[in-house]
Amino acid sequence: MGTVNQRTRRNFLVGAGASIVALLPEKLFAARAVRSGGRLAKAPSAPNTANIYDELGVTTIINGWGTITLIGGSLMPPEVVAAMEAASKHYVSIPDLLEATGDRIAKMLEGLPPDHMATVTSGAAGAIMCGVSGVLTGENQELIQRLPDLTGMKSDVIFQKAHHEAYGYNQQILASGVKIIEVEYPEDVRRAVNGRTALLYFANYLNAAGRIKVDAWAKLAKELGVPCFNDCAADTPPIAHLTAYNKMGYDLVAWSGGKAIRGPQCAGMLIGRKDLVRAARLNAAPFDPTLGRGMKVGKEEIVGMWKAVEVYLRQDSKTETDDWWDRLEYISKQLRKVQGVTTAFYVPPIANHVPTMRIEWDPRQFSLTTDQALDFLKNGKPSVLLQEENDGVSLAMNSFMLRPGDDRIVASRLKQMFQAHRA
Ligand SMILES: *Cc1c(COP(=O)(O)O)cnc(C)c1O
Repeated sequence: MGTVNQRTRRNFLVGAGASIVALLPEKLFAARAVRSGGRLAKAPSAPNTANIYDELGVTTIINGWGTITLIGGSLMPPEVVAAMEAASKHYVSIPDLLEATGDRIAKMLEGLPPDHMATVTSGAAGAIMCGVSGVLTGENQELIQRLPDLTGMKSDVIFQKAHHEAYGYNQQILASGVKIIEVEYPEDVRRAVNGRTALLYFANYLNAAGRIKVDAWAKLAKELGVPCFNDCAADTPPIAHLTAYNKMGYDLVAWSGGKAIRGPQCAGMLIGRKDLVRAARLNAAPFDPTLGRGMKVGKEEIVGMWKAVEVYLRQDSKTETDDWWDRLEYISKQLRKVQGVTTAFYVPPIANHVPTMRIEWDPRQFSLTTDQALDFLKNGKPSVLLQEENDGVSLAMNSFMLRPGDDRIVASRLKQMFQAHRA
């Protein structure tokens, strides 16, 4: 747990998403431990352990924080895990598999513009890196092999100053050798666009921070004849977002697979104009020499990503959202029995657009700061991670990444915490 520093992350990085299924991938590992090379392999220890991480001495976490890469993103539904296991039993052509899964994903996304397609990538960060590379090189093999040397290619990516300053993924843009050109107003964009301009780039979760909003940015790109990219990594729910930005005019949209979509943590998707998605694919593994050769997605993750989208699109969002509210209400009811503690509910507008609960305490009745509360919960057994609030006398949490039964544990740990800190 020493490496998980909750306070280095802002709440707006928390993603959004789907319901929880308790099955962890340990079943996969258990199945593989039985036989190796035709002989019976010895199980290292405690073969029936309920938790593979116990064997490693690594503490598991109850997640009231959100879809956070640092603690494993999200948990895959059993159907996704089963698809990955099935995929692990055969060799296939990876380019053929990327083509087939990309086609299936695009077909499932109703209303996707007809000239758009999808491909599985190594996370949203991988989608950004190979997406930007593809915009520069097209399908030209010579240019692909030349990156990050931009000789013969465009070199500028236009990005709003407020986005650029707060964004955590600038290096994925810069990796292909481009320069980021900062702008603030639409006039700045019109002035900045010239023969070197490759792309207009947008960070969806920072929409509120920039002067030019998400739809205006796409319109500017169209007006100026430059492709535009939107990083939407953590921006479902709602599910409709999966096609909304392509419809809005974005030529490329990046998604995390291992956040609310609950696919493999190391997978993601790039969805957009067919020529640009194809070019992006050619800039990444399994092809070499390419800049993106290190951004490999295994056959298991490729299949898992496809299956995760299928499961995600099939689910009933209303039932699921009700369930998330119920979990929070259960915890709230328990906490309201503690004198001096109050709760309030809200839904953040973007990036963690899910039911969220604020837990507040009267500082005259408890000698407890937000930091102490986070530490108390984190250092307990089981470890519980909730969200930081800035006022020093409250916490927040969401419930969409909790496993069944976790709401009971969270409520009981919070009650213990308040009991232990009565002023
Ligand atoms: C999580 C995230 C990423 C990176 O996604 P990965 O799937 O982990 O590569 C990129 N951008 C934003 C806004 C994110 O939230």
